[in-house]
Amino acid sequence: MRIVPARDGGLCRIRLNGGELSAAQARVVADAARACGSGFIDATNRSNLQIRGVRTGAENQLISRLIEAGLGPATPDSDDVRNLMLSPLAGLDPYAMLDVTPLAGALLDELQCDTRLRALSPKFAMMLDGGERLAMLDHPHDVWFSAVSANQFAFGLGGCPPTLSEHSPALASVESGHVPAVANALLHTFLDLALPEQTRMRELLQTHSAEAVLDHVQGKLHFQLKQNAKDWRRPASNARLRFGVHPQRNQGAVCIGAQIPLGRLDASTLQALADLAPRMRMTPWQSVMLLDVPVAEVESAIERLKALDLATTPNEPFARLIACTGSQGCAKSFSDTKADAHQLASLMPETGNVHLSGCARSCAAAHHVDTTLLAVAPGRYDLYTHAPEPVARHITIEEAARWLARSTTDA
Ligand code: SF4
Repeated sequence: MRIVPARDGGLCRIRLNGGELSAAQARVVADAARACGSGFIDATNRSNLQIRGVRTGAENQLISRLIEAGLGPATPDSDDVRNLMLSPLAGLDPYAMLDVTPLAGALLDELQCDTRLRALSPKFAMMLDGGERLAMLDHPHDVWFSAVSANQFAFGLGGCPPTLSEHSPALASVESGHVPAVANALLHTFLDLALPEQTRMRELLQTHSAEAVLDHVQGKLHFQLKQNAKDWRRPASNARLRFGVHPQRNQGAVCIGAQIPLGRLDASTLQALADLAPRMRMTPWQSVMLLDVPVAEVESAIERLKALDLATTPNEPFARLIACTGSQGCAKSFSDTKADAHQLASLMPETGNVHLSGCARSCAAAHHVDTTLLAVAPGRYDLYTHAPEPVARHITIEEAARWLARSTTDA
């Protein structure tokens, strides 16, 4: 694990396997954020956490606390390769094709034990999708596997599982038991073929056809890949399921989802969440799912979530607003996006999603958002909808709110 500099102090990324954190681990993170950092913890759009404001001299203490809590990599120097995205409902959703968590464990073990894979970029990411009703399907991955049935996965490169006929189809399919071997062959193929400046699969695909990559992969396997998934489309995910109460495979317990306002928690809120459930999962929407909540405790847990200012329904302003770190923590930002988003929250119309970005890198939104406010100066934004050109320039938050209200009325 390592700590990188940011405007508000050191930044420590905690990669969570499948986004999961036990209550005991959450308490360790909260204590460590207070003792070694600013006390603020960000939820990321890769279902991880980041402790912010790490003080100079406190780095080793912080890393020791996290490793002792089981939040470090399985082998030294393998932290950066632990990028495997699962549904927040993996292993829990009774409607999924299968429980992918054992397969995810095998893939994570392999990623961390194969020393050659440490040459992959820390951003190189895989997705393992069990067909859960809630999954982030518009967040591109270097490699994705998606369950077609309980014993077969389609896979593709540099994108997402297709949900519509116009989307790029799956490259091929593979039996569930062969997924680790195919993943290994795909990652080694990338390392075999990529030029030094090509760090992501989409870059490799600019110089090699998907078929050429697949041929190289096939050469590493002792079984035949099936090219029978061209017409397969993944059922759409319902992002609203990240809110509210949902059944789990294990009877008698449920999971409860809520949105963390602007993806930022303070240590006491994380500690309070740990008191509500034995484990939780962070989601790619920068929200949290409390798991294994006894049915009898649902009502009180929801009341507590509301008291903690988490959004428990999809229509609340903070369920529809995202903002990047902004100028408080990022030198690239033209504005304090989080403070501006707080101001906008009180002015938001009743529908529509808004993303505030401090610069064009758009770190906070890997998925589609109705309206993007791109900072151009402190408190000033260009407003984009679907077109590459802004529909309004250099506007204030109040002007943006008025534009949003008008567009809602016109719609
Ligand atoms: S979008 Fe830009 S300003 Fe915002 S956190 Fe990312 S790099 Fe910084």
